[in-house]
Amino acid sequence: MINIPKGTKDVLPREAYKWHYIEDAARKTAELYNMKEIRTPVFEHTELFLRGVGDTTDIVNKEMYTFKDKGDRSITLKPEGTAGAARSFIENGMGGGVLPVKMYYITPAFRYERPQAGRLREFHQFGVEVYGSAAPDADAEVIFAAASFLKKLGIKDVKLNINSIGCKTCRARYNAALKAYLQPHLGEMCPTCRERFDKNPLRILDCKEEGCKKITHDAPRILDYLCDDCSEHFKKVQQLLTAGGLEFNIDPNIVRGLDYYTRTVFEFVSESIGAQGTVCGGGRYDGLIEELGGNHTPAVGFAAGIERLILLMENTGVAFPEDCGPEVFVAGMDDDSRLAAFKVVCKLREEGISAECDHMGKSIKAQFKYADKIGAKYVIALGCNELESGECNIKCMADGATSPVKICDICACFKNKMSEK
Ligand code: ATP
Ligand code: MG
Repeated sequence: MINIPKGTKDVLPREAYKWHYIEDAARKTAELYNMKEIRTPVFEHTELFLRGVGDTTDIVNKEMYTFKDKGDRSITLKPEGTAGAARSFIENGMGGGVLPVKMYYITPAFRYERPQAGRLREFHQFGVEVYGSAAPDADAEVIFAAASFLKKLGIKDVKLNINSIGCKTCRARYNAALKAYLQPHLGEMCPTCRERFDKNPLRILDCKEEGCKKITHDAPRILDYLCDDCSEHFKKVQQLLTAGGLEFNIDPNIVRGLDYYTRTVFEFVSESIGAQGTVCGGGRYDGLIEELGGNHTPAVGFAAGIERLILLMENTGVAFPEDCGPEVFVAGMDDDSRLAAFKVVCKLREEGISAECDHMGKSIKAQFKYADKIGAKYVIALGCNELESGECNIKCMADGATSPVKICDICACFKNKMSEK
């Protein structure tokens, strides 16, 4: 037997409704904020991620699925959604149109990581991208979009943590202070952090190793190093969040895994799903579009991991709406009534009413059992008596009540039922 690759998961038919529910909530949220969907390829030129994600990140250094295609091009499966969206923004001249450009995506993403609960090699993200506005209002709008998405799903057990990591100027000053603080502890830090020390010391704050976390606990705080503009920007973001009634904590250790972040960074975190607690992360990345060859375009966005959301909802008892079976099952006893059942089912489906009939040669009793198992709301049994009289009974599976109906009126009857809903 051939098994599924490590770190990947099938979404089985019996659980697909959970995915539809989340994807639906994502699309509805995006619509509320007037964000339009963008779909970009699952693979891109490797160069895009080297520049767009950053070559000091774990993603680029350790986690990318990179291969040569038959034309000897280096290709990478997308490890996240932003770089592709940004490439497309530039390539399609969207910056020349109406700004801001507000987009969302629902996409698979691929990272070669050690699989654990909430950490997969193929996972899925719902993300939004707002390009063209440097104003704190855009940051707030994106954070509110994430919050209303989580709220729509019924998720309460999350905290919003925010931080500002400043601009190039403040970060240079901060990096120097951070390095001075970390220098004496270098020997106690993990090998990855020792490498980060020279390349991108800020990322040490993002390390998940307990030893490194202890060391960074008392490190200087970036917020104390923000320039006036960045400081003002961060203050305004907080004002807007408060004005909209969104609670948040300031966590000076959030830096996000990706290199292109500037100013606002944020995470929605839960304590109910173990170590992989961040269900949604985002922030501002004003340098990204330029880095990828476009005109300077401020940008802000977030990405939420769908598998982690499902895990969180399951672990905290947030209900998914029930997966529903067909509206009606039409059973047939003999050849003639089976043919009649088939015709009724065809008509019902044509009218947009989900319906089923047997194609396993089941006895009438077994057909009723099957209808019950698949969660049919109503069952109609046709036999020679029904065909002769032209009348049959609709049985409601919830309470067993039956009501008579002419076979030729079945469709109209269900259309009525549907319009009453
Ligand atoms: P982490 O710190 O957990 O590795 P990250 O900072 O690498 O997360 P992002 O690149 O910001 O994550 O991705 C946004 C969201 O995508 C995360 O908050 C998480 O919900 C989800 N995510 C990231 N990597 C994985 C993965 N390997 N498996 C499942 N979900 C993931
Ligand atoms: Mg990661």
